[in-house]
Amino acid sequence: MDYLEQQKTSNRLNDPKKYGIVKERLAERGVIPLDIAKLTLDLQKPYLENVTIELCLEHVDKVLLKREVQHAILVGIELDVLAEKNLLSEPLLTLVKSDYGLFGIDEILALSIVNVYGSIGLTNFGYVDKLKPGIIGVLDDEGKKEGRCNTFLDDIVGAIAASAASSLAHRFAV
Ligand code: MG
Repeated sequence: MDYLEQQKTSNRLNDPKKYGIVKERLAERGVIPLDIAKLTLDLQKPYLENVTIELCLEHVDKVLLKREVQHAILVGIELDVLAEKNLLSEPLLTLVKSDYGLFGIDEILALSIVNVYGSIGLTNFGYVDKLKPGIIGVLDDEGKKEGRCNTFLDDIVGAIAASAASSLAHRFAV
């Protein structure tokens, strides 16, 4: 049994059924696990000499297996999609659609993901939130286009990458 299979069966906080749905939802919004793993790789390279993209992917998957993480992803993506369809009521619609800088709930929802992973997750989340590397920057730009909303998604992706980085750090702690 490989590492991921082991994780699926051994941890009561995991939900393998929703894992597939969550990956589909992310893909529908233009995010594949490899995009997230690339962020994790950049975060962990300075600390883990032999870290590979495959290893990062494994830990992104591990994060996506967690029930609490899955719920945050589902809520965040749903709100972005409803905002694109103008199905939220005011004043929430304008706040989400315009990615209002003082809204703050998109970051708070993402924090519920990193909360599971301790201080390394938290500091890495702050780091990618500020710098917007890779797919986070792409999502941020795309969300500014007419009819598109990635207000929650960019933070969610950053939180998954940061959580996977923390998960890796703990796995290889000396
Ligand atoms: Mg945001």
